[in-house]
Amino acid sequence: MMDAICAIATPYGSGAISIVRASGKDSIKMINEIFRGPDLTKVASHTISYGSIVYEGEVIDEVLVSVFLPPRTYTKEECVEINCHGGMFVTNKILETLLKIGFRLADSGEFTKRAFLNGRIDLTQAEAVMDIISSSNNLMLRNSNKALRKEVTKMITSLRERLLALIAKIEVNIDYPEYDDAIEMTNEIIIPELLEIKNSVGEILEHSRIGKTISCGINTAIIGRPNVGKSSLLNMLLEEDKAIVSHYAGTTRDTIEGKLNIGNITLNLIDTAGIRESDDYVEQIGINKAKEVLEMAELVLLVLDNSCITEYDLELLKLTEGKNRIIILNKMDLNNKANINEPHIMISALNGEGMKELEDEILRIAKVSELNQVDATYLTNARQIAKLDSAYKAIIDAINSSKEYLPVDMVELDIKKAWDTLGEIIGIASGDELINELFSKFCLGK
Ligand code: GDP
Repeated sequence: MMDAICAIATPYGSGAISIVRASGKDSIKMINEIFRGPDLTKVASHTISYGSIVYEGEVIDEVLVSVFLPPRTYTKEECVEINCHGGMFVTNKILETLLKIGFRLADSGEFTKRAFLNGRIDLTQAEAVMDIISSSNNLMLRNSNKALRKEVTKMITSLRERLLALIAKIEVNIDYPEYDDAIEMTNEIIIPELLEIKNSVGEILEHSRIGKTISCGINTAIIGRPNVGKSSLLNMLLEEDKAIVSHYAGTTRDTIEGKLNIGNITLNLIDTAGIRESDDYVEQIGINKAKEVLEMAELVLLVLDNSCITEYDLELLKLTEGKNRIIILNKMDLNNKANINEPHIMISALNGEGMKELEDEILRIAKVSELNQVDATYLTNARQIAKLDSAYKAIIDAINSSKEYLPVDMVELDIKKAWDTLGEIIGIASGDELINELFSKFCLGK
């Protein structure tokens, strides 16, 4: 068992309770020395004991102590959790006491790292723990939970098995070219199998990319000329009459200025300051600003006024062509009807009409329904997606080499590369550097 570590596992600040967590060699015995209550070395595993933490004759706090005996613990080592009163001072004092009696302060993510090193979880599960903590919407949470339940591992393992079967067949052919029973591994046999694997990987990749957009949010710009109703629309979307912080023109500011959840997805609003232009608005400035904003935008909500379409509106329509955009004709409550050919959604940001259709369209564009319907397992994590992408490319290389009738052992090299890269997703043959880097992103006490 590794040395004993401890950390505060709950957020810093005052609350009803705080938890100080410990894991490693002699954790239970050491904490028992400062615990006045039942003998913790004798209590059953997974039980909670009531008592006090007492150090050098002084009672520090009244606590509940949970004891977990290996192997069924978070780290597979003996673990102790001390539930104390949730004040910063008292929690810190308990932590300090543990440090005095022989514990070491845990590094970020060290508990989860131990779970990984001790073989309780694999890399995708470790990453899932982190993803659950940082989840900000339902889809993200659901997928991180799937990963924690090893579904990602199962999916990747099955792809690797298919590649391995192909490698085995090729090997037989290379080793025993004269061996009649061995299936002759001609390109005609390799290519169809590789194409099937490529399609499976491609599908996961596509879902992962959509999933990633959803988990990180979609950079969204609301643009349109003054007075078409951009702020009113934003307020409607926010479902509260809250004015967006205004900025003076020319001041630098962060480009992402707000987040908004619609259904299961998050929109990262870009340049909300641009939504309220100043009175001395000049159209050319407007166009240049729109161009800047559009560079960053993955989704554009172009707002037009149903009662009047101007030259400037036409320019914005042209500027946003080819973008992921939704054209919104606002002020549908007014009787006038503008004439535009492009598909659009009619709304009234004044009375809320059409808002449901608009939100559905946003979800449709984000392709969320695709993920909801197929209930797909996919990767949520940038590191994993990058690996999957390079495995995908290696499979395409193998297919192309096959098609060009390159020697079959050259093709095998690419297949092996794909197999190895998939292995890295679940942490097979991952170097120390990756492991350290990965766990350092965790919060303390996790
Ligand atoms: P922005 O300059 O594009 O942000 O436009 P605002 O949201 O400030 O709206 C400009 C004016 O249009 C305000 O007087 C709003 O009350 C009005 N307005 C916004 N949306 C609607 C709508 O759907 N119908 C009507 N009749 N007026 C609206």
